[in-house]
Amino acid sequence: MIKECPQHGRYEDMMAVDAKFLEHIEAMYPGRDIDAHNDRELHNHGTSSIKYGRGSVLTVDLTNRCNMMCDPCFMDANQVGFVHELTFEEVKEILDNACEIKPRRQMSVQFSGGEPTLSPFFMDAIRYARRKGFNSTQAATNGIEFAKSKDFCREAYEAGLRYVYLQFDGIGNDANSHRQVGNLFDVKLRAIDNLHEAGVEIVLVVTVVNGMTNDQVGPVIQFAMDNPKKISFISFQPVSFTGRDEEITDDRRLRQRYTLAHMAHDVKNQVGITEPTRDWFPISVMSTFADFADLVHGPQAEWGQMSCGCHPNCGVGTALMINKETKEMAAVPEFINVPALLKDITKINDAAREVDVKHHGRPCAAQELRSVRRAEEPSHRRPAQEVRQVARGDWPQLRGWQGTP
Ligand code: SF4
Repeated sequence: MIKECPQHGRYEDMMAVDAKFLEHIEAMYPGRDIDAHNDRELHNHGTSSIKYGRGSVLTVDLTNRCNMMCDPCFMDANQVGFVHELTFEEVKEILDNACEIKPRRQMSVQFSGGEPTLSPFFMDAIRYARRKGFNSTQAATNGIEFAKSKDFCREAYEAGLRYVYLQFDGIGNDANSHRQVGNLFDVKLRAIDNLHEAGVEIVLVVTVVNGMTNDQVGPVIQFAMDNPKKISFISFQPVSFTGRDEEITDDRRLRQRYTLAHMAHDVKNQVGITEPTRDWFPISVMSTFADFADLVHGPQAEWGQMSCGCHPNCGVGTALMINKETKEMAAVPEFINVPALLKDITKINDAAREVDVKHHGRPCAAQELRSVRRAEEPSHRRPAQEVRQVARGDWPQLRGWQGTP
């Protein structure tokens, strides 16, 4: 990717190490979410204002304090010379505001930091989020407090903590030594045991830096496959050069950049499972299933489903089925044709909106918009003139496109 900006000059970065993978991921993109509305004041962030959807993950940074001093640290915890910590009133205000945005949908409420467990309001914040009706409350944590005390784990579970996003960069103390704590892997194992015993689900979160931790992709997956009762998900998060790494040089950024295509290939090469262009899909395909679930629950449902409409290059995912007793395993797309399933569900979702066509002789606004966006994103496959015609409501043009991914 090369960008030219009159203010900041030329910028060059790597999008993928496999063009076919990028093509596949963009082709599977289901289209943008609805326009963001009714939140102009909350999300008015200039050029970074939220334009589509209503969000799927609400990250609440409870404190910038931390009991570690890592490099990398995405938010430069402990280093900025002042403490910024939310009061409980501020936490409540954030969660109350999140409930005001329409349509009301579930979101993952992720308490983060710094280290969120150091906030004096950690338990209260979880409790309040659950009371508001958010059913996926999470803590992004280094695990130290959870390793120290089984009681702390139990209290968090009883307050309503459902998942911990556990920082977990690799297998063994050496693979974690860049975090500057000698026995960090032992701490992680203790945290996993305590949290599992308390009933909290565990997501391993691996910060991947090319040339530094990418050799741990395979061993971490193997660890999860060996412990299927304790580990629910793995989230590989390519390093973002922010916080302590903001001043990175172009050379180092290119060397350490880790793309989604890197990851799909590392999984195949290091573990011998999954095919990059068969088994990986943009995270946003979940919106197709969310739309379907919303239809099934009907318009009177108290909450809509969580729906993520992020750009196809923002995140990808796959699912493995593992027999928890025998540990036998297969990638789900090995036995389900996911693209065909998505196409069928999309047809059902669109058909359910056709009632408006009968009433008004043209597709309802949501269907029209969705179809236009399927066509225009992400690679502008349709000529702009066609997109404009449909946007004006030229229905015959639209018919030929329906169902195109
Ligand atoms: S544990 Fe997380 S917040 Fe704390 S220093 Fe490390 S990366 Fe930063």
